[in-house]
Amino acid sequence: MEAVENKAKTVILEKLNKKPIIISGPCSAETETQMLETAQRLAKTGKVDILRAGIWKPRTRPGSFEGIGTKGLPWLQQAKKLTGLPTTVEVATGKQVEDALHFEVDMLWIGARTTVNPFSVQEVADALRGSDVPVLIKNPINPDLELWTGAVERVAKAGIKKIGLIHRGFSAYGNTEYRNAPMWHLAIEMKLRNPELLMINDPSHICGRRDILMDVAQKAIDLDYDGLMIESHIDPDNAWSDAKQQVTPERLAEMLDAIVWRKEDVNSEAFHAALEKLRQQINHLDDEMMQILGQRMKLAEKIGQYKKENNITILQTSRWNEILERAFVKGEKIGLSKEFVTKYFDAIHMESINHQNKIMNS
Ligand code: PEP
Ligand code: MN
Repeated sequence: MEAVENKAKTVILEKLNKKPIIISGPCSAETETQMLETAQRLAKTGKVDILRAGIWKPRTRPGSFEGIGTKGLPWLQQAKKLTGLPTTVEVATGKQVEDALHFEVDMLWIGARTTVNPFSVQEVADALRGSDVPVLIKNPINPDLELWTGAVERVAKAGIKKIGLIHRGFSAYGNTEYRNAPMWHLAIEMKLRNPELLMINDPSHICGRRDILMDVAQKAIDLDYDGLMIESHIDPDNAWSDAKQQVTPERLAEMLDAIVWRKEDVNSEAFHAALEKLRQQINHLDDEMMQILGQRMKLAEKIGQYKKENNITILQTSRWNEILERAFVKGEKIGLSKEFVTKYFDAIHMESINHQNKIMNS
């Protein structure tokens, strides 16, 4: 018995030591047949390392499918027996941790809706004490790195050695391209703060739709993430949860084939490879800055419209000084010189005025 357990521990640790780590499986375990067929088709691709499934589903509103519950855990055990794939499930309570460990789940993850709540994270951490199961921690639904860090600290304090992060994006109000805004800079900052932790990207929950999964997965690989967690289902359109974002195991394999995998830094190319990675990160941040600037201009235009309707001047010196003062204080905290902040904001201001001018005179 102990030998079997040790073997399982070795297998999951081996999977977590390779790169990229590919985790896939349905959003939710629905039926035994669905679970076993998904696992077998995933295993057949030869591209998946770890089988995921949601057993308890914390849904935004009651009434939708809330997970099959503990009775789904033996299906995962069976799937592992058939395919050799180690398994992972989401846990949100102490009881769920006990049940998952009882049924030999190889790795656990804490969901975004749990990471936000230190009471729940602590309960999970307390239940983890004494086990050495690897734990992945999703970012909280709100863009707060302290909460994410707090969850890592609570799990680490419970004695868990192998901890990883899952970047699944952040809630944003209103309709956007993404279900959860990626805010790549936050994940990058979290990785910079915790270089020893694995960083997995979850394109499924960032995108919320199939058509842009590839794009996000590629970005993550470009940014040197350690792996991907992508939901898959034997019949995605009829999935009981997250139908729009799931893909078949075969489609997953196609996607993984199409991704351009960035090479590890090797011998003489090490320097160039490292440089290239940093440049990719800079490109992504620049893209985000441009997008944010575009949004800022849209807001300025709205204000322009309002000023026009009320016959108010475009230039409001007191408001501008207030903006600059705020920027100086912030800039100083993050190491930006007053000179740079002034130039940067002057340029933004001029562009804003040009946009408002157009509105005023249209
Ligand atoms: C999930 O992985 O199915 C899930 C519920 O994700 P999240 O916690 O990111 O919403
Ligand atoms: Mn899901």
